[in-house]
Amino acid sequence: MQGFEVLRLARVPVVEPVPSKKGVSMAKPKVAFYWCASCGGCEETVVDLNEDILKVADAVDIVLWPVALDFKRKDIEALSDGEIAVSFINGSVRLEEQEEMVKLLRAKSGLVVAFGACAYLGGIPGLGNFTNREEIFQRVYKEVPSVENPEGIVPQVKTDIGVGELTLPEFYDTVKTLDQTIPVDYYLPGCPPPPNLVMDAVTAILKGELPEKGAVLAPAKALCDVCSRAESKPEKLSIAEIKRPWEVKLDPEECFLAQGVICLGPATRSGCGETCIKANMPCRGCFGPVEGVVDQGAKAISMLASILGLDGEEKMSDEDVKKLIEGIADPAGTVYRFSLAASLLRRKRMK
Ligand code: SF4
Ligand code: SF4
Repeated sequence: MQGFEVLRLARVPVVEPVPSKKGVSMAKPKVAFYWCASCGGCEETVVDLNEDILKVADAVDIVLWPVALDFKRKDIEALSDGEIAVSFINGSVRLEEQEEMVKLLRAKSGLVVAFGACAYLGGIPGLGNFTNREEIFQRVYKEVPSVENPEGIVPQVKTDIGVGELTLPEFYDTVKTLDQTIPVDYYLPGCPPPPNLVMDAVTAILKGELPEKGAVLAPAKALCDVCSRAESKPEKLSIAEIKRPWEVKLDPEECFLAQGVICLGPATRSGCGETCIKANMPCRGCFGPVEGVVDQGAKAISMLASILGLDGEEKMSDEDVKKLIEGIADPAGTVYRFSLAASLLRRKRMK
């Protein structure tokens, strides 16, 4: 398994043999896929397993997969506790319904895998923690130019429609990661996790060859350590201005930091196959923090602080450093793009 060698392996029995008419055979382990607050890209990754999905479908009994199969919540409620071998849950937890479903799946599952950046770290939906429900509803349902809503109606948990009551799940003020809601056994990082890591994880689960609980199923090294541009990465950076990728003609081989463009490679776990770097785009950090780092954004700030601040050979004045930093568009969103909900601060404190 790619990269798992860095982690301590432990055998975890997933299924017990059960008798069949022809003799003793292995019962197919039951597997569930579920999505919470996410874009659907993680579901695409499962489809992107291509022909390998047939091997998966042959080896397991899929009991829930809302994007592809018509199972209902009552089908899961009818299972015994722990009957599902593993649930792969993507997306962060924003709605009351999502909280209920992940708690139900936790009770019914032997293992729960936080599948993808949003379940693991909050991901892009976690950026909602820079604001709150009231401001999101105000913007989305009242201010966006394409919205026509003269009565200013926003979603309600209960609406009386005369002949009955319509209900919607509560939209929480704060986005939570999966492990802030239920205990999680393993984490598959990425936006989305690449198919090879997904297949490695499925194979490890089926063979009962999983690392210690709580492990991130990806290599421990930082992206910079495996990046093809690492040799051109500067120890110290001498730039007058931080640029966004579309503001410069990017050299396809030179480190982005050397070109004055922020790349989160030093603060991000490897394992993605350098997908963005190969497409001549800097890393945005979707694989989360490297092993042992609690707060990816804080690590990124510390990385930037250590490389910025030179004017030629001279140290920049505090005033010039301040101007340089002010030139970063959306600094908090840049360093916490995928990990705000999992950060030490978790959210902006609102008035
Ligand atoms: S900062 Fe980005 S481009 Fe530079 S070596 Fe690290 S990952 Fe590669
Ligand atoms: S380069 Fe960075 S943002 Fe892009 S896929 Fe890899 S970890 Fe994610």
